[in-house]
Amino acid sequence: MIIGSLFGGFTLLEMQRLLYDLAAMKPLRKNSYPLQRNNSPALIQADVAVVGAGMVGGTLACALARYGIHTAVVDRLEPSTMVAHEFDGRASAIALSGQRLLKMLGVWSHLESKSEPIKEIRVADGKSLLFLHFDHTEIGDEPLGFMIENRHLRAAIATEMQLHPNKLSIVSPASVTALVTDADTVTLSLEDGRKIRASLVISAEGRGSKIRGWSGIKTTGWKYKQTAIVTTIAHEQSHDSIAHEHFLPAGPFAILPLLDNGNVHRSSLVWTENSDTASEYMTLDDSDFLMEIADRVGGFLGTVSLIGPRFSYPLGMQFASKYTAGRIALVGDSAHSIHPIAGQGLNLGLRDVAALTEIIVDGKQLGLDLAHPQGIARYERWRRSDNLSMAIVTDILNRLFSNDVGPIKLSRDVGLALVNKIPPLRRIFMMHAMGTVGDLPRLMRGEQLS
Ligand SMILES: Cc1cc2nc3c(=O)[nH]c(=O)nc-3n(C[C@H](O)[C@H](O)[C@H](O)COP(=O)(O)OP(=O)(O)OC[C@H]3O[C@@H](n4cnc5c(N)ncnc54)[C@H](O)[C@@H]3O)c2cc1C
Repeated sequence: MIIGSLFGGFTLLEMQRLLYDLAAMKPLRKNSYPLQRNNSPALIQADVAVVGAGMVGGTLACALARYGIHTAVVDRLEPSTMVAHEFDGRASAIALSGQRLLKMLGVWSHLESKSEPIKEIRVADGKSLLFLHFDHTEIGDEPLGFMIENRHLRAAIATEMQLHPNKLSIVSPASVTALVTDADTVTLSLEDGRKIRASLVISAEGRGSKIRGWSGIKTTGWKYKQTAIVTTIAHEQSHDSIAHEHFLPAGPFAILPLLDNGNVHRSSLVWTENSDTASEYMTLDDSDFLMEIADRVGGFLGTVSLIGPRFSYPLGMQFASKYTAGRIALVGDSAHSIHPIAGQGLNLGLRDVAALTEIIVDGKQLGLDLAHPQGIARYERWRRSDNLSMAIVTDILNRLFSNDVGPIKLSRDVGLALVNKIPPLRRIFMMHAMGTVGDLPRLMRGEQLS
């Protein structure tokens, strides 16, 4: 969210065309589950089956169940595995619109005491004196977004899922092994021999979705040869709820404010490096690793120390050629997986959730088939262009900022300084960072679906 807004909303059409062109040029590659404990019957019947109970699929399952849609959600992993600290050490920047969705779904009530508001964002190009500064007070009282540790968000979603036993069957651990579509339903086969039958199947399986491939939906994409190293630090000085992003030649280095733990000031780091160098950094002993980190953080937070394990995530971009196929729909990373330079991947997934829930709930109220063609087509139109724009923006930003080429560096520094000098432009960028512009689903505007 930090800097994706810089280009979002401007040359989106041109950027979309560019990616369509890229998609046409590149060879396309083929890729392809309510809380019902494992004593569930051999055939589980539901209105909608959601495959994948990650942060996107889990949120979608909560949303559908809250609005009376009988949902089966399947994940190959135990919920207890997914909330463990060792499973996911990241923290996510959730835009204000995403927080509104989580509030409407009850998930946020489990996160009140776990989130840190992002009040300001400072973007700097390496050691350049030119920088960009966003301050939420320029546009209102609400913060630009919130930082939440993924393990807390995953736990909040898991807790909320348990609160809808009549509408939500949770099937986990269980892997989907096959899919058969007929005129009115889709039947999923599970590894243990059970089946789930639903009118609509939604893949929230992440990047490696099987259902996407089984449905004949192809993907385009590339690897960045970059790896994000993620860890948590404690520091002497308060971060004052300010998120920092420093563009270094190998990739962005983000210092993201976390809620204090008692008297301990904490931040989450996302340090992007060339993949070969990143593997070397991952093997350093703690004191050498800390030295590298302290050097990149600089002195403004006082003495820093490591308080969390290290995680590494190879980075890539992957985009599905379409988001729907008959009674199948894709959400989250199953549909689009993007560079984390702007902290937008999950935010896009939450928008998919809000849009698809609105379409399904509106359709049900009108007595329509949950996979009615107009609704499915509307989802595709609504979400695909928005996601594609952000995929292109993040790709361009990464290419523009992750280098040390003199003329490019000079022009991007001047660009940052220019935006910083023009208040109306700054405000537009901030609204993009908050996710409050564009064709927002009702749940993201804080409106209930009735
Ligand atoms: C370093 C880093 C930092 C990031 N920071 C941010 C940020 O600040 N803000 C932001 O908005 N985004 C951020 N992102 C992006 C964000 O983390 C992802 O977009 C998001 O996690 C995708 O969630 P998902 O639920 O779609 O997919 P996943 O997290 O991949 O979940 C998929 C789920 O499906 C299950 N599954 C898969 N296949 C099957 C199957 N066949 N049967 C049953 N279950 C199955 C898996 O077990 C898993 O639980 C970041 C990403 C990285 C790498």
